[in-house]
Amino acid sequence: MEKNTDIKKAARQHLEMETFFSGGLMPKTKQAQQQLKQTRQAQKNAAAELEKIADEVGKCHRCELGQTRTNAVPGEGNPNADIFFIGEAPGADEDAQARPFVGRAGKLLDKIINAMGLKRTDVYIGNILKCRPPENRDPGHEEITSCLPHLQRQIETINPEIIVALGAHAAKTLLETNKSIGQLRGQFHEYYLGLGTPPIKLMATYHPAYLLRNYSTENRKRVWEDMKKVLAELNLSVP
Ligand code: SF4
Repeated sequence: MEKNTDIKKAARQHLEMETFFSGGLMPKTKQAQQQLKQTRQAQKNAAAELEKIADEVGKCHRCELGQTRTNAVPGEGNPNADIFFIGEAPGADEDAQARPFVGRAGKLLDKIINAMGLKRTDVYIGNILKCRPPENRDPGHEEITSCLPHLQRQIETINPEIIVALGAHAAKTLLETNKSIGQLRGQFHEYYLGLGTPPIKLMATYHPAYLLRNYSTENRKRVWEDMKKVLAELNLSVP
């Protein structure tokens, strides 16, 4: 999947300038090589920044969950992903393995991603909270406030085309709204990382754990309709 990052735009502009000054005589293969080199460098930079964030998350004690976790769960996936799936918080399996969405809900998310014609390694997966709340209770307001900067840096680094907010907590936090997931899902919203930054499209849908608890044909159909909209927005065909 091709991304439209600022770095890629800059690389394209640089290439256009070189072509202009060389009178269009620069061999096409050289242009392609240069572009590839710049894209690879951008990918390396994003991967390095994500590792840095993961390292900081691993040492973070900004909220009390830093005392109760077994492992922090920073997130994982493609540093240049077009789609960033964001859930609520790690559960017991995630806390034990330090990886997001690896329990039953994670298996269902894998199925959804595969049904979209993608692999887990094509996308990025993370949570609003990086540490498990005891007994899987709801995230606290202060915990969200403390943890959000980690996620915001991940979003800034990955610069995805689309964020998929999984469940009410993720959708409400990212969109700063009290509307229910039933009201929010099924349509694109705009997520703003900060003033002056262009919005990122956000699709809200049901959390896989909710889907497991309410495994009706109707609910599965709703999630699939949401994912089809994501694919269409990325100009990807529906498998
Ligand atoms: S939940 Fe977030 S803010 Fe709290 S300790 Fe873990 S990483 Fe730090």
